[in-house]
Amino acid sequence: MSTVKEAIARAVDGLGDELEALSRQIHQHPELGYQEVQACAWLSDFLGRKGFKVETGIAGVTTAFRATIETGAGPTIAILCEYDALPGIGHACGHNVIATSGAGAGAALAAMKAQLPAGRIQVIGTPAEEGGGGKIKLIQGGVFRDVDCAMMIHGFDRTLLHQDLLGIVRATFEWSGKAAHAAADPWVGINALDACIQTFNAVSMLRQQVRPECRIHGIITNGGAAANIIPEYAAAVFMVRAPEIDAMWDLYRRVVACAEGAARAAGAGLKVTQHDMVYEPMHSNRVLLDLFAANMTAAGLSEGTPDPGRLGSSDIGNVSQVIPAIQPMVAIAPLGTAIHTREFADAAVKPLARAGLLAAAKTMAMTTLDLLAEPARVDEAKRQFARR
Ligand SMILES: [Zn+2]
Ligand SMILES: [Zn+2]
Repeated sequence: MSTVKEAIARAVDGLGDELEALSRQIHQHPELGYQEVQACAWLSDFLGRKGFKVETGIAGVTTAFRATIETGAGPTIAILCEYDALPGIGHACGHNVIATSGAGAGAALAAMKAQLPAGRIQVIGTPAEEGGGGKIKLIQGGVFRDVDCAMMIHGFDRTLLHQDLLGIVRATFEWSGKAAHAAADPWVGINALDACIQTFNAVSMLRQQVRPECRIHGIITNGGAAANIIPEYAAAVFMVRAPEIDAMWDLYRRVVACAEGAARAAGAGLKVTQHDMVYEPMHSNRVLLDLFAANMTAAGLSEGTPDPGRLGSSDIGNVSQVIPAIQPMVAIAPLGTAIHTREFADAAVKPLARAGLLAAAKTMAMTTLDLLAEPARVDEAKRQFARR
């Protein structure tokens, strides 16, 4: 390892207690997407103290931030942080670790500022990953326009250099019927809940006819007012996921057709509202992944066994469709721990999570250093991105 990389690793270790405390603080005060006021303030204060120029509320998103250090003309490398929690189960996705490993990587690089090659490092705080599409708003606001390459990590039960992410489109279905007494005059009513339940049945049948990497899942958000009234209104939210954009839209149309057919069968009306935050599939970048892999080993992380059936989605997919970007998985929980569970939330502040946090911070800082030191690699990453 080069002496600068050794110094980066020492700098991260030196920040270890401070980063763990920050991670715990975020974990203990879970905030939902676009409400991450405290996490945004704590992270931007931390980076400000470490020498970054910090802007908050970028692209009109109150809880987003961008922390920048510049060392002259050169590439712009971004390290992304997430810090939103899940309703009811807090930091069950470990975003406290994503946030603090990104901030830690930035702080370690800032500590080495005098020895850094020319360029610009940005630690970007991206709110509302869990459905709110914060990165989509930042893309639309031009935040990534001058960024050459971006990286972040995500906590998992194992370390994986690359994990595919599915594109995801969401829709709300609302069925309208006619209320009537459910015992005295049921034949007068039109049962909106029947249309809703029939949609779930049709989707269950559709599921057999789709490729195994696709996902369709929904919840009923309104199933009627009382058991003795034929429901005049029912509503459900569905998510449709696929590994390619075209396949995602094709599947989405088939799910809408299920709702339409069910509405017709029940004699109910249907209103379909497609949500505007569409998450795109992850496009990988071999150049960035190779650099990350070499540094991962140097930072003491070893790759685990891939588990290709466990597929998620993230708005980092949208970033990966506009610039070269990667999101390796880093072990922060015992093998076999499922994410979005209370067990994963508990694990996200245990010693294994601290180890993952620090190793991830080192790997991202070293990879950023490599890209600044060899701008040809940045060009290579961009060429590979352009060929996608
Ligand atoms: Zn999540
Ligand atoms: Zn997550």
